[in-house]
Amino acid sequence: MSRIFLSPPHLTGEEVQYLQEAINSNWVAPAGPHLRAFENEIAQLVGVHHAVAVTSGTAALHLALRVLDIGPGDEVWSPTLTFVGAVNPIVYQGATPVFLDSDPVTWNLDAQLVAEQLNARAKINRLPKALIVVHLYGQTADMDPICDVCRHYGVTIVEDAAEAIGATYKGRQAGSLGDIAILSFNGNKIVTTSGGGMVLSNRQDWVDRAHHLGTQAREPGMAYLHKDIGYNYRLSNLLAGVGRAQLKQLDYFIARRRAVFERYRQALGDLPGIQFKEEPGWGTSTRWLSCLTIDPKQAPCTRDELCNSFAAADIEVRPVWKPMHRQPIYHGCKMIGGKVANQLEDTGLCLPSSSALTNDQQDRVIEVMRAAFAATV
Ligand SMILES: *Cc1c(COP(=O)(O)O)cnc(C)c1O
Repeated sequence: MSRIFLSPPHLTGEEVQYLQEAINSNWVAPAGPHLRAFENEIAQLVGVHHAVAVTSGTAALHLALRVLDIGPGDEVWSPTLTFVGAVNPIVYQGATPVFLDSDPVTWNLDAQLVAEQLNARAKINRLPKALIVVHLYGQTADMDPICDVCRHYGVTIVEDAAEAIGATYKGRQAGSLGDIAILSFNGNKIVTTSGGGMVLSNRQDWVDRAHHLGTQAREPGMAYLHKDIGYNYRLSNLLAGVGRAQLKQLDYFIARRRAVFERYRQALGDLPGIQFKEEPGWGTSTRWLSCLTIDPKQAPCTRDELCNSFAAADIEVRPVWKPMHRQPIYHGCKMIGGKVANQLEDTGLCLPSSSALTNDQQDRVIEVMRAAFAATV
């Protein structure tokens, strides 16, 4: 039996045609027709006016913070419960991260906590320059109250939709809900280019500036003239072709991931102490990863024991992201709350969730989990 991976790429076969086309036309560079088409297709899907494709989601976020002129002395707030790529660019820019707790339903930024804290900071005239909102595991944050309070105080919202392409909030797409947004096309994400990312916004000046900074900030004209420090962050036309083929299948990929989640819930939802991640009524989660929590007071085994059972069966599972305030590298940073994020890290589990997962493979996952619960009762 072969190893079952958490979220491997799901290729459709059409990627080869797009690659072939790029090679035939000799557009084997970080420029070319697939790139522009990929940007347009994503912008249209998300419902924003402008997009620029780059080498990773982390690079996209770095560019977004550069565009907003975030630098030393500025605070940028972000959720503590996230992947480190959503936070490191704050430090690349020499700014100061401040971490906030999650709400227990979406696992994303606690909207009420954000409002409370911004109100308090406004009183002492010490507002952050930007707030990074992350949509974890294919589920958007509760954006309306977050947007209301941020607009009120002029705090720019950077939406990290790396895990949430195709997710909706009140009929709108993740990536169109804040002021500037980023996506990731890393190998483990629903749509992959092997590695890649995108900056999205309705503001053309911001996206143009991101493009400029991401292509070494070379000034127009023949001479190699530079007035800014830029980066070599542009995505390859080859990889943009892969992304276009992938994007065509997005609806199918989402439907499959959601079906995988439902099948887990049907088969495992009755186990004691198991709680599958909820989906608030205001939007559709893509179920990028099938997530659940295991209450150690009710379940006969702990999350870590369960991880060991899966490892022995050659099945890749993962705990929920380790919060930033528990990372050695971010030790000592300001943290607001943290109980919810800590509990999610201690009890949360992500099951194999690929859109290519077969029923037989999924049955193996289900059997291992049921056996682990039965063995210790
Ligand atoms: C994957 C991810 C990123 C970074 O994307 P890369 O393309 O891997 O650089 C950023 N934020 C979140 C929440 C992610 O899951």
